Amino acid sequence: MTRRIAELLRAGQPDETVTIQGWVRTKREQKGFSFIEVNDGSSMAGLQVVINQDVPDYETSLKRISTGASVEVSGVLVPSPGKGQRIELKASTLTVYGEADPETYPLQKKRHSFEFLRDIGHLRSRTNTLSAVFRVRNACAAAIHQFFQERGFLWVHTPVITSSDCEGAGEMFAVTSLNLKQVPLNEQKEIDYTQDFFGKPAYLTVSGQLEAEIMAMAFSNVYTFGPTFRAENSNTSRHLAEFWMVEPEMAFCDLDGDMDLAEAFLKYIFSYVMEHCPEDMEFFNARIDDSVLATAENIINNQFERITYTKAIELLEKADKKFEYPVEWGLDLQSEHERYLAEDLFKKPTIVTDYPTQIKAFYMRLSDDEKTVRAMDILAPKIGEIIGGSQREERLDVLERRIVEQGLDPATYWWYLDLRRYGTVPHAGFGLGFERLVQFMTGMANIRDVIPFPRTPQNVEF
Ligand code: ATP
Ligand code: MN
Repeated sequence: MTRRIAELLRAGQPDETVTIQGWVRTKREQKGFSFIEVNDGSSMAGLQVVINQDVPDYETSLKRISTGASVEVSGVLVPSPGKGQRIELKASTLTVYGEADPETYPLQKKRHSFEFLRDIGHLRSRTNTLSAVFRVRNACAAAIHQFFQERGFLWVHTPVITSSDCEGAGEMFAVTSLNLKQVPLNEQKEIDYTQDFFGKPAYLTVSGQLEAEIMAMAFSNVYTFGPTFRAENSNTSRHLAEFWMVEPEMAFCDLDGDMDLAEAFLKYIFSYVMEHCPEDMEFFNARIDDSVLATAENIINNQFERITYTKAIELLEKADKKFEYPVEWGLDLQSEHERYLAEDLFKKPTIVTDYPTQIKAFYMRLSDDEKTVRAMDILAPKIGEIIGGSQREERLDVLERRIVEQGLDPATYWWYLDLRRYGTVPHAGFGLGFERLVQFMTGMANIRDVIPFPRTPQNVEF
């Protein structure tokens, strides 16, 4: 049976007979024998393989091997005399599956820029950095499921295609089966959606929250984990058109419970990744951002700062720092403000609560003074907002009023309002941008480099 290289490096014993499969990273030919390093994606480190010239087809096989070639090697593990590895594989047979012509194969030994690698998205996962990112991404996803499953949360699958624009936030991708070359029009010369697939306009979801609330009213504690879409034309290092979101929703829960869960959640994911991907995390610390390990330590061991929006504005007004955007009670915090609080002032994740009513969505619970809503954002050093959440408005009359005040039509929210008509309870939840988390974890500067196939304006090749 073929063995994974990560497992052999950890637990393989001298004299064991094993078979491995993978891609060659380097080849060094000596007199009478050669070394190749084989990587199968299971770990940062590859396995060193020694091939003696008495191995069958030595000459022809070696000629076909270069960086990127795919191989299968069988042999016996031996203690390695070389530095940097405990064991190596002494080959008895060697099969070359596919060559990788060094004249044209773009991934050679030198370091490539991330921009260059984005243009070869079909090959970049074979590099050290991207493969480390995607292993950590996988560990984050596993940690998220484990965290919620241990706590009895139900994973619910909310729709990708929806007719509701979650917060009136706009910027949605339309989904249609109409012939765009000949769009049917009604008597008012508007698009006749009755002829469209769903009989009305439909979109790709921007959030699963409203549907998660439906499910929380049956299962108490639920979470979504799936793709969301935003047609925002923002070419930043923190925005994608298609990104993954994690949205827990809890019945019988207020904002304090929501913050406690969010904090425990982030601590859990960081601990999990440190335990399962220590080599990858050390690599990021050495090669990408030398604060990665300190950040993980900081998240795991320190309580997050918690302040109100009003207090945050006071602190920003007092800051001896010039901001590009104005600081004034009632205005939303910009990324520079968020980063000042989390990065410069508190030097750790900071939870800002109780934002002005006007700048937040209609479903957030109104405080008694009606000036603020029970919202919370978690701001991370370097990233800014990583989690946005709130206690939801559970009072029917208040919710109806808020929908109207925001210029929305209560009729389209009939089912959302029904949840307040039948068995309403205080409830709360939050949304975590999964790629922002992976960025935060790995120190990767650009969000395009933490998702295998980034969708951004003008970019949908791979
Ligand atoms: P921002 O102000 O940074 O655009 P937002 O206020 O639009 O964020 P929310 O609507 O609260 O964000 O979405 C919940 C979470 O999803 C955010 O906290 C963030 O982590 C993530 N997120 C939002 N937009 C994007 C995007 N375009 N690409 C990747 N992640 C995103
Ligand atoms: Mn946004």
